[in-house]
Amino acid sequence: MYKLLNPEGFPAMNIVTEINAWREIRKELGSRTIGLVHTMGNLHDGHLSLVHHSKQENDATVVAIYINPMQFNQARDFELYPRTLDEDKSLLAQNEVDYLLILSTDDLYPDHYQIQIHETEISKELEGEYRPGHFNGMLTIVLKFLNIVQPTRSYYGEKDYQQLLLIKKMTHALFISSEIVSCATIRAEEGLALSSRNRRLDLAQREYANHLPRLLQSNLTPEKIVCELEKLGFKVDYVVDKWQRRLAAVWLGDVRLIDNVPL
Ligand code: AMP
Repeated sequence: MYKLLNPEGFPAMNIVTEINAWREIRKELGSRTIGLVHTMGNLHDGHLSLVHHSKQENDATVVAIYINPMQFNQARDFELYPRTLDEDKSLLAQNEVDYLLILSTDDLYPDHYQIQIHETEISKELEGEYRPGHFNGMLTIVLKFLNIVQPTRSYYGEKDYQQLLLIKKMTHALFISSEIVSCATIRAEEGLALSSRNRRLDLAQREYANHLPRLLQSNLTPEKIVCELEKLGFKVDYVVDKWQRRLAAVWLGDVRLIDNVPL
């Protein structure tokens, strides 16, 4: 474990890279409340809104950064996933996060992926249908971090709505005592939901991507929205009304975007 210094030279954030080191800290924190924000890095204001919720509601905030190979169903998506650890560290230090947890795949998967969490119903549709295995990987790593960190509360974005439902379902089914807190989707001014994958869009595509939230928030039916998106040149995986939300996944070039809005 080592400490970053802020410009005034005061210790600002503990960076923890070993599970045992974290366990010692967790013991010392005792009954103090702990908020966990679980991310894959390349942090933006969407992640930071989760951090701010956690800081308001807990004595200490832990951010985990780990790009989980198990939840990528395409090797190329995993390889291209933006890795910006230095920038992420300074952003978290500026936002006065107490602990940054960076664990290795060897430490997190001592079983070489042989133990996995499977959900058999909602994980099979929408994202689950288009990204087979994604939710197994996601639930498995979320459970590992909940067990390692032992947070009082853990924070997830509504941007990944199906993921949020699955995490709530898993923690309920497995008697995990951490509270799962959902946080509203943070959007750019023109409406596009912030996402690490947006960085792979060129300037023109980024402009174009604003059609997605605009159409989702319109009064059109899902079928009509699919037509409009296809006319505009998007490849559409789905636009569906479900769980009192309108959820969509589309491709712009080789970048896949997901979004959802309340109905
Ligand atoms: P990721 O790093 O993409 O795995 O995301 C980590 C957490 O941040 C997840 O709980 C996401 O749902 C959440 N998140 C990502 N983008 C946003 C956003 N634009 N608004 C709110 N939460 C977000």
